[in-house]
Amino acid sequence: MSNSITVDTLVIGAGPTGMAAWELPNDSSTWQNNESWLLVDSNPVPGGLASTDVTPEGFLFDVGGHVVFSHYKYFDDALNEALPSPHDWLEHQRVCYVRFRGQWVPYPFQNNIAALEREEQALCMEGLIDAALEARVRSPTDKPANFDEWNQRNVGRRLTDIFMRPYNFKVWAVPTTEMNASWVGERVANPDVKLLARNVILGKVAPAWGPNATFRFPAKAGTGGIWIAVANTLPAERTRFGEQGSVTEIDADAKSVQLKDGTLVKYNNLVNTMALDTLASCMRDAKLAELCKPLFHSSTNVIGVGIRGARPDRIGDKCWLYFVADDCPFYRATIFSNYSPNNQPDASTRLATLRLAGGGGGGGGKPETSEPRPGPYWSIMLEVSESARKPVNQQTLVDECIAQLIANDMVSADDEIVSIYKRRFEHGYPTPTLERDGALAEVLPYLRSKDIFSRGRFGAWTYEVSNQDHSFMQGVEAIDHIYNGGAELTLNYPDFVNRRINSERRLPGFRD
Ligand SMILES: Cc1cc2nc3c(=O)[nH]c(=O)nc-3n(C[C@H](O)[C@H](O)[C@H](O)COP(=O)(O)OP(=O)(O)OC[C@H]3O[C@@H](n4cnc5c(N)ncnc54)[C@H](O)[C@@H]3O)c2cc1C
Repeated sequence: MSNSITVDTLVIGAGPTGMAAWELPNDSSTWQNNESWLLVDSNPVPGGLASTDVTPEGFLFDVGGHVVFSHYKYFDDALNEALPSPHDWLEHQRVCYVRFRGQWVPYPFQNNIAALEREEQALCMEGLIDAALEARVRSPTDKPANFDEWNQRNVGRRLTDIFMRPYNFKVWAVPTTEMNASWVGERVANPDVKLLARNVILGKVAPAWGPNATFRFPAKAGTGGIWIAVANTLPAERTRFGEQGSVTEIDADAKSVQLKDGTLVKYNNLVNTMALDTLASCMRDAKLAELCKPLFHSSTNVIGVGIRGARPDRIGDKCWLYFVADDCPFYRATIFSNYSPNNQPDASTRLATLRLAGGGGGGGGKPETSEPRPGPYWSIMLEVSESARKPVNQQTLVDECIAQLIANDMVSADDEIVSIYKRRFEHGYPTPTLERDGALAEVLPYLRSKDIFSRGRFGAWTYEVSNQDHSFMQGVEAIDHIYNGGAELTLNYPDFVNRRINSERRLPGFRD
């Protein structure tokens, strides 16, 4: 292989955004260069944050709770083309609760105060009515200064105190006062006071809300299986994964990228999907590094637990569960075994018990035998956020999580744990801080001035358009812009794309 190649477009990163390479033409006669395009990723397996790991015992765990829901028909079509059989997918109804003071409150919490105890219902309703009355006399130009204020104005002070503020700190690992209010859009349920009052009086639970009230999940190989399938549709000679695809240095002036295996790739257009701070260090660009400094992110710790036994009735068909209390390290638990029977080993697989749930931290409760025994099995996946503002003790994290699973009636002390998974992802959530929009308004144009389109969850650092569908479409739209001058709606108009669910989008050109 030559040590220097020239491509028209180089895409860095084979997560959902980079998979937009799918959009690039494959007809080599179109191209004057010896290679039309190249997609590289330092990971041996494509998928990025939308990947799936398999434990040695055979349990699958995603990078936290991933569900596929879509704002774009184009995205659905792409996934259906990669996984075309109806047997490739399982459809689910969202069954989702919030753990609050020892009870399960249906999600979204703020729409279901009817489930709280009477005194708490009254306090929450007072807060909501105050917020509604204050809104009547507020000038339309008086916007909330931060996400905390947004909450107080929209759900009232009491719901902010008991749920929105503590829960959001657990998710974002920064205080709500340091987050902007512009990202919220459709992501936070904004309650209807009249409807809530009615539900409280009648003792009713609010109906399913939001864009992911139903969702589909791949039958096999977890979320990562989707992106492996999409990658398999690409010509193998145009993809490089692992060491051969690892970018070590970018010279934006010379328009060249150095790969770890020694290959120099010259490009006309660069679509970057690495995190902006990583990009700045690959570019050895002090100005870019300075511009990126205000950008904040949290890390995600994923803890997976595989358990022997039939799924208990108390778990039932729950999908994911939110945890507010600050003595519980995880903000979300996903019953991953409910998503697909293939997310855990077959019942006939013989596994040894690693520990009893109640047996961690040097406590008692040793397993009766270390002999491998058959299943059935089920599994729980937990997410714990981490940042400079919210450190995590990595040494004790697994024990703390399992202890809280017991305390919250998710597992029993004598449950046999047969698999434990723990992995930390440095870039988990791109935080919509107060400084974010100002920083991005400088960073992205600066990169464009160097012919670099930086897109995707951390490539564009815009949380409100950073799910798989958004990320994929950011990549598609960037390529459409490069080759056809198309508008990049997702990056530039997040509210617009988030309002239109499953909207039609057909690109002229390559893959109609
Ligand atoms: C906890 C959590 C829960 C989520 N839940 C959902 C959900 O329910 N639904 C949903 O749709 N989305 C969800 N997401 C978002 C989803 O994971 C992202 O939309 C998606 O992975 C972003 O894709 P991307 O391609 O922009 O970035 P990434 O997936 O981060 O991909 C970037 C790629 O760049 C590569 N790279 C980095 N450095 C280099 C280098 N030097 N050289 C070469 N390659 C490099 C990486 O290996 C990686 O593959 C969730 C994310 C997290 C973290």
